[in-house]
Amino acid sequence: MKKVGIIGAGLGGLTAGALLSQKGYDVNVFEKEKVVGGRSLTLEGDELTLEDYKKILHRFDIWMPHSEPSLEEIFERNLLEGYRLDLGFHLLGFIDKSPLTKILNDEGVTPPYSASRFGVISPEKEVMHDFKEYLSIWDKLQLMPLLFRFALLRRSTISDMDKVPVEETLDKYCKDWIRDALETAARYISTVNDLEKISTAEILGVMKQWGGNAKPTGYPKGGSIAVCKGLAEIIKKNGGKVHLEKKVDEISIKNGEAKGVMVGGEKKEQDIVISNLPVQDVFEIAPKKHFPEDYVEKLINLEGSGSVCAYYALEDLDESILKKPIAFRERDLGVEGKDAAGIIDLQTAKPEMDMSPNGEYLIQAYIICTPEEAKDKDKVKTLRKALDKNMELVLPNYKDDLKFALYPTSYHLDGVAKTIYNEKPHSKTPVKDLYMVGDCIKSTGIGMNCAVDSAVQLSKDL
Ligand SMILES: Cc1cc2nc3c(=O)[nH]c(=O)nc-3n(C[C@H](O)[C@H](O)[C@H](O)COP(=O)(O)OP(=O)(O)OC[C@H]3O[C@@H](n4cnc5c(N)ncnc54)[C@H](O)[C@@H]3O)c2cc1C
Repeated sequence: MKKVGIIGAGLGGLTAGALLSQKGYDVNVFEKEKVVGGRSLTLEGDELTLEDYKKILHRFDIWMPHSEPSLEEIFERNLLEGYRLDLGFHLLGFIDKSPLTKILNDEGVTPPYSASRFGVISPEKEVMHDFKEYLSIWDKLQLMPLLFRFALLRRSTISDMDKVPVEETLDKYCKDWIRDALETAARYISTVNDLEKISTAEILGVMKQWGGNAKPTGYPKGGSIAVCKGLAEIIKKNGGKVHLEKKVDEISIKNGEAKGVMVGGEKKEQDIVISNLPVQDVFEIAPKKHFPEDYVEKLINLEGSGSVCAYYALEDLDESILKKPIAFRERDLGVEGKDAAGIIDLQTAKPEMDMSPNGEYLIQAYIICTPEEAKDKDKVKTLRKALDKNMELVLPNYKDDLKFALYPTSYHLDGVAKTIYNEKPHSKTPVKDLYMVGDCIKSTGIGMNCAVDSAVQLSKDL
């Protein structure tokens, strides 16, 4: 039986572990932290101390420039009691049709989840219950030929448009409100505001899925960690092991081949080693001398993406509105790409999602920015105002019922932002038997979907 050592119990590492353990590999996952999940982490408000919260956020390149009241007061008054917090806003694209759900379903460990289409805030600043309502019948008729054209595109034609900026495609084929709607969608599909940097192929690929029956968004009960726990269960069920608090100090490489991992001074021999670390960090444990210089240089310079998130905890709410994530676009914010897109997710506040105490509601929201903008106090202030303004449109006078608000701001949301000029590496590395999985690896989708898909592809290739 071939031994596979996986470094990191993030979503990518756990998916690879689950699939390879099903295929009969002897899987050992080494995770340096006390819990699985990596960036798909959900924190229990009841157990969290201020000190731990600050440390965890720092570990994941997140800071908290704003909160209402101050973080100190939130903890002194135990306001987080009964709440669950992801590291920041989390949504899972196409949860219904996702390979992740299939893996969990096949083993009977799927957490209940909510799946939905998008609502939208129209340019006239009206909150539309559904993207479809936003379009009149005449609008839809006008859109038909374009959608038909997209639907008929072959995969090869789509991938030819890999390096064509969305801006160029929109200039060529779309105008008025169609352009407006597609501009917003392209931004939140890619988590990038600058249309010059977004690949047309990427957006068309997702839109093709959208055209089908799949609901584009979803969220698991108990937060994003729930799916990671399910995957860890599958690994154990199939005879694999997930070792917590086992930091890998080095990947052993000899004559260009990966031979195992060093954990606490002990060498654990493996036939195959899979790294789940963000690619910029891989060379902290894989000595650079074993890789071509330009490969190392390219990987460590890849850029992530950023966002300003918001958690609004409300003490009262009309539950009938808790249905969909509502997408919005704020114009002329002075950010890269000029406008910024964001989402206010009303689905995660449903009582059955179990993210807040009885009778209270946690609404998650975010607005996209670059990592540099996420570190800039003034830019973050502007983005936070845009979030609050759109929240007010969705829920007028929400401040009257606000118990607390947190604004975790991330400058490493996606490991590698999916842009034309920031090409993700392949799973296979120049070192034999050393592979990589996670959201930094060239694969379908962004964020959690990309992490899962990279592992699905690797497990097929091995
Ligand atoms: C604030 C925020 C909001 C987000 N929102 C969304 C969203 O709405 N939708 C979406 O799809 N995605 C979102 N993402 C991205 C999503 O969380 C990630 O894409 C996904 O969790 C990444 O998984 P991964 O497998 O690539 O690795 P990671 O989660 O980075 O996991 C890597 C693991 O490796 C471990 N590790 C590192 N070094 C070592 C070592 N030496 N030894 C052992 N273990 C080690 C780490 O502790 C970690 O557990 C968001 C991320 C953030 C931060």
